[in-house]
Amino acid sequence: MTDLYKLTISEAAKKLKTGEITSLDLTQSCLDRIAEVEPKIQAFITICNQSAISQAKESDRRRTENKPLSDLDGVPFAAKDLFCTKGVLTTAASKILNDFVPDFESTVTKKLLDAGCVLLGKTNLDQFAMGSSTETSAYKTTKNPWDLARVPGGSSGGSAAAVAADECIFSLGTDTGGSIRQPASLCSVVGLKPTYGRVSRYGVIAMASSLDTIGPITKTVEDAAIVMNVIAGIDDKDSTTLPNKTPNYKKSLAGDISGLKIGVPKEFFGQGMNSEVEKIVQSAIDFYRRNGAEIVEVSLPHVKYALSVYYIIMPAEVASNLARFDGIRYGYSKIKNQKSAIKNLEDVYISSRTEGFGDEAKRRIILGNYVLSSGYYDAYYKKAQQVRTLVKKDFEKAFEKVDILITPVSPTAAFKIGEKTDDPMQMYLSDIHTVPINPAGVPAISIPAGFTLDNLPVGIQIIGPHLAEESIFKVANAFQQATDFHQRKPKI
Ligand code: GLN
Repeated sequence: MTDLYKLTISEAAKKLKTGEITSLDLTQSCLDRIAEVEPKIQAFITICNQSAISQAKESDRRRTENKPLSDLDGVPFAAKDLFCTKGVLTTAASKILNDFVPDFESTVTKKLLDAGCVLLGKTNLDQFAMGSSTETSAYKTTKNPWDLARVPGGSSGGSAAAVAADECIFSLGTDTGGSIRQPASLCSVVGLKPTYGRVSRYGVIAMASSLDTIGPITKTVEDAAIVMNVIAGIDDKDSTTLPNKTPNYKKSLAGDISGLKIGVPKEFFGQGMNSEVEKIVQSAIDFYRRNGAEIVEVSLPHVKYALSVYYIIMPAEVASNLARFDGIRYGYSKIKNQKSAIKNLEDVYISSRTEGFGDEAKRRIILGNYVLSSGYYDAYYKKAQQVRTLVKKDFEKAFEKVDILITPVSPTAAFKIGEKTDDPMQMYLSDIHTVPINPAGVPAISIPAGFTLDNLPVGIQIIGPHLAEESIFKVANAFQQATDFHQRKPKI
């Protein structure tokens, strides 16, 4: 069979099991596809040609010995370059980590490797996951496979574009304010942001620790459930992981949606929203109405403050997390590069950080230190924490009345490369519908829901209560079973 790179996880797993294909066939097909389309898409920072081939051969050996590590043994994936991968360059798309090769593996990539998955490479992102377009990467801007003049979204833009362009069978992203869901929406793939604490953050370079989550980017909802079955669960290396038992997410796919109460929060519609996007989201809501769900308008009155809350709490945590990149312990250092120019220790810090961090990282470090500084702490940081609680309570109250919420993911389809780079505020506003979910800590998915007249993808966001990933999968899969948007492919 040709075009193996087009397979979903579920299809690939079946063919690997029956012996119809080998992991080497599948992995080689993905690597060939990468070689073919990367000059246009630029989704990867590092491609692991050799190690991927040897992992695939190992997997095939296990299969012939009838000892597969799991159903996923031999399935190739890509990881955002924020996941520490043992022996593989991990840059966070920054110059300050331009030569950082971790000697340990993140919990999530380890779980996938232990299940026999093959690591194809590390994907591009906005530097330290700060951005919505991959344009803040120190290395490259990834192109949207649906229109090469447009951004793939961000920060997990490389991971979403790689799946959309069939360069891998699935990928991993991180989501602090929308970085899985927004690129998934802009590239017409599935992206799940799990409940905070459902998936271990260990070994993933931290952006804002109270908001960071890790999740799959896949071609189908079923595949997202399959990946969650491997990566979810408690981890003694991340004390914020939840002790709750992990369900079999695949079982949740088949459920019935009739009688379900779906809330549509009015604050997510109107102002600033593109009319084509609005139409697509409304027609998805109509689908649920026609299939027996009850659609209820709800209000989340404090959500209008969520972006402001986010741009106080997130930079505060960024400033703390990025303090470790001091030019001594990791990566780029003025000592290594130009020792003679260094006068004293402070000079090492200042010059390494000045040269190693990009503008967006610097902007957020400065903002973060400002909101945490004495005299401003109460007015900004403390206040933001209080309002965060109100946002969280809005969601809790809404979920007393409804089972699930449906909203747009992004107010517009993919924007042009360069369109928002000079105006950080415009860039921040593109996250207006995804950001509120992170301070609340609840799970949400983006699934393909239609295309604009210019053939640009648009997703819908399905938000569930704390730990209700199963409801999300059920609702998302019902739509996907009845539509073909997820099966359409970009012409590259
Ligand atoms: N785009 C948002 C930001 O720049 C979200 C980033 C993320 O989720 N990592 O902060």
